[in-house]
Amino acid sequence: MLYDVIVVGGGPAGMSAALYARRYDLKVLVLYETLGGHCAEAHNVENYPGFLSITGLELAHKFRQHAEKFKAEIKQEKVDRVEKADRGYHVITGSGMFSGKTVLIATGTQTKRLEIKGEKEFVGRGVSFCATCDAPFFKKKTVAVVGGGDSALSAALMLSDIAKKVYLVHRRNEFRAEPILVKNVKKCKNIECVLESAMEEIKGEKCVKGMVVKKVSDAKGDTKKEISLDGVFIEIGAAPASVMMQNLGVKFDATGFVIVDAAQATNIRGVYAAGDITTGSNKFMQIVTAAAEGAVAASSIYRYVKQHENEAKNHHTAQWSDK
Ligand code: NAP
Repeated sequence: MLYDVIVVGGGPAGMSAALYARRYDLKVLVLYETLGGHCAEAHNVENYPGFLSITGLELAHKFRQHAEKFKAEIKQEKVDRVEKADRGYHVITGSGMFSGKTVLIATGTQTKRLEIKGEKEFVGRGVSFCATCDAPFFKKKTVAVVGGGDSALSAALMLSDIAKKVYLVHRRNEFRAEPILVKNVKKCKNIECVLESAMEEIKGEKCVKGMVVKKVSDAKGDTKKEISLDGVFIEIGAAPASVMMQNLGVKFDATGFVIVDAAQATNIRGVYAAGDITTGSNKFMQIVTAAAEGAVAASSIYRYVKQHENEAKNHHTAQWSDK
């Protein structure tokens, strides 16, 4: 089977692209590792139009149901790599190979690590990269959240409802998160902001027992202090998940995001990208912008496939060919 488009990624960009592509009557396969991507981790989404308040996981399921309603084929399979083929592209997974005239990469981003002592050692034993998933384990406990963006402040607010106390550790004295989140954090009695500070180490035995923090400006370590706690949530942003497309010749910007044009096309013919992995939407990285990029990509892919078919007809070529 030669699909018109193989979508890699099952978040808002991928599912939106699949639903739009099906409405253009394209043959669509979606391959994903985690349904919803980062959207599914959001405790509460309040900025996706049409939904006053919905959990990220529920919204991710709705995106999938919507793509399925229009008969997109959807499989949970991790993609190892994408390769150029005579007729479009091969997408290789652990269980086999799928062929598409075009590929849409919508794999989003992967959470960044602090790379400090104790971080790797205590993953799953007090260190978490997903507050929505793990917050319930910290009922009436003391936790720290690291970061100053939307993810960190949302996590701190959610944890403040469950935990006894939340330390919010941030390296600067101002947050980059949405002002409404900053305002809510400041109002919250059990969140203590530890500003201009860096977490230097996570301490523990079997599980996390504490953190070592110090002022960022302190070269000698005079401000170093150890604070007892039960959990650490690391929410310091994410880097693009682009490993599987590295041998395609696709161009990335200096920070690893896939460079796309207004049509969501990359520099390689037939390879499109949408969502958080791209330089599109001014890197705003919202669910609504990811879904919009997916829709634009589907429309561009439709035009690309039709143009190819017309060219093939005019040149009396029976097969889909890139030549
Ligand atoms: P982000 O906006 O990149 O923020 C990362 C935060 O972590 C920054 O405050 C940064 O500090 C800090 N940081 C980065 N590396 C660090 C390090 N090595 N050590 C200590 N601190 C470090 O990431 P994000 O909060 O995950 O958000 C990512 C995107 O998703 C954004 O576009 C955001 O708007 C979007 N998002 C939106 C929502 C929403 O509800 N609207 C929710 C979650 C995420 P500096 O500030 O000093 O750089």
